[in-house]
Amino acid sequence: MTEVFRGSFTQQEPIPEDGIAAALAVLRSGRLHRYNTLPDEVGETALLEEEFAALTGAKYCLAVASGGYALGCALRAVGLRTGEPVLTNAFTLAPVPGAIAAAGGRPVFVEITEDLVIDLEDLEAKALGSGARIFLASHMRGHLPDMEALAALCRRLGLMLIEDCAHTMGAAWKGVASGRHGKLGCYSMQSYKHINSGEGGLLISDDAEVMARAVLLSGSYMLYGKHRAAPPEAMFAQVKMDVPNVSGRMDNLRAAILRPQLRLLADRVARWQRLYRVLEEGLQGVAGLRLVARPAEETFVGSSFQFRLPDWSRARIRAYLARAAARGVELKWFGVDEPVAFTSRYQHWRYAEPQSLPRTDAILAGLVDMRLPLTFSPEDCAQIARILAQEALIVGQGPEPQDVALPQVQ
Ligand SMILES: *Cc1c(COP(=O)(O)O)cnc(C)c1O
Repeated sequence: MTEVFRGSFTQQEPIPEDGIAAALAVLRSGRLHRYNTLPDEVGETALLEEEFAALTGAKYCLAVASGGYALGCALRAVGLRTGEPVLTNAFTLAPVPGAIAAAGGRPVFVEITEDLVIDLEDLEAKALGSGARIFLASHMRGHLPDMEALAALCRRLGLMLIEDCAHTMGAAWKGVASGRHGKLGCYSMQSYKHINSGEGGLLISDDAEVMARAVLLSGSYMLYGKHRAAPPEAMFAQVKMDVPNVSGRMDNLRAAILRPQLRLLADRVARWQRLYRVLEEGLQGVAGLRLVARPAEETFVGSSFQFRLPDWSRARIRAYLARAAARGVELKWFGVDEPVAFTSRYQHWRYAEPQSLPRTDAILAGLVDMRLPLTFSPEDCAQIARILAQEALIVGQGPEPQDVALPQVQ
């Protein structure tokens, strides 16, 4: 009997009971807007910011409506000018170049390495070639580059580093939290990230002026005094007439759902690592299939799993995905011609100038991606690995297969 996996790749864990209770309390109060508080009351949103600042060691924190909003807000807060180039990873998710474009910038893509992280040599070449001042580093799928080398390079080149930590909330490099290596760190709390309120974003920084601008941008009206992880009043006084209101606030309902999950984050990171390691072990040494190296300096969050099928024809990769899907294992492929669901490539973002990144193209052509929800058990992951290894041998070693349609995935 060939085994079939029965789990759902898009099923997250429920909201913890204390989050549900806190959300109900907010609903009963009727005070959902973050600034709608009683005279001596501290709103859930302000508390979430205070707690996330403490967790990451940042001086300041701002909660906003989405991860994409956090990125755009960060770019505006550092003074991005219309038409200015912004460097970013060629391998990232659509909201990253989208945020650059929405803030008036021009995305300039940088090559990645086979470990799916930024190519530092190309970063230097593109920084010099474009004259960019800002590098929006996207830690796509949770892979961190050597953050000390990256930060040193940015300093040498005079590049401002902003980190997209949508997949690295809870991760660290040599013990330093992801999001703490540059000017700002940006996070997402969309359902597929590490804490879940459906939608949501966080920004952290130690820079008082930048964060005062970010708070004003997010739509604080003149109620920034109700924040607990924001810069001092004097900083706002300097900039408050110059910064437009681009409403994108977090609300108390979502903050209430998120606060208990912050307390679970370390435990989630440990559970994700365990699931990831079971898959990695099960796929070690499978012919034709390359795993992504995980450096010892990295504390990673294995909320998704990637591997490469280098030198496989497109028909072979399609056949592999179809056979895995028939056995219940949903894979995504970054080599697809057309953008599908969450999966798209830099060539699909035609509002950006056409750019050529041959190294990234070669890597994405064979890059396979899988969600790893915490509703899976280690036994589930062992079964998934068995199915993927068996099918890799059948499809990878067999004759060139007939071209088949790709299975539907989210
Ligand atoms: C999810 C994600 C974001 C932010 O997305 P939102 O849906 O706007 O929260 C940013 N970057 C990456 C790499 C992501 O995966």
